[in-house]
Amino acid sequence: MHEPAWEYRVGLGDDVHALVPGRRLRLGGVDIDHAQGLLGHSDADVLLHAITDALLGAAGLGDIGGVFPDSDPRHAGADSRVLLARAMQDVRALGWEPVNVDCTVHAQVPRLAPYRAAMQQRIAEAMGMRPEFVNVKAKTAERLGFVGRQEGIAASAICLLRRASRPPDA
Ligand code: MG
Repeated sequence: MHEPAWEYRVGLGDDVHALVPGRRLRLGGVDIDHAQGLLGHSDADVLLHAITDALLGAAGLGDIGGVFPDSDPRHAGADSRVLLARAMQDVRALGWEPVNVDCTVHAQVPRLAPYRAAMQQRIAEAMGMRPEFVNVKAKTAERLGFVGRQEGIAASAICLLRRASRPPDA
């Protein structure tokens, strides 16, 4: 039986990490040249975390904290590309395929335009999709709030899934 409500799902993801000295800054799976990095249990890739949450949300699989808990020592220093790829595997196992991902990094500094294409490529690789369906945007916060004061970096993402096969229990 055709079930139109099953054909597409959309998911939203948001994340924030604090900027601190002595850490490497990694965004969208790309190492960024900057004096500070993001604090976190894993590599603290705020952009990949937002995308992973969008993906898990679209598939109704909860969130990144539930799937990859901070309390699990296996995730200490984890490469967030691996976490995203594992989330994608779980989503595909339910019969979903990503259509597109759109996301925004909120950072006062550094300028991210030079890294945009590389981030899109890395995200697409981790998700097994074509880079032209991944869009990364960057915005400053006009010096307002914690982003504007360079205390942290935030990211938001949205992901659309299309049903590629029937779910295992259908
Ligand atoms: Mg995070």
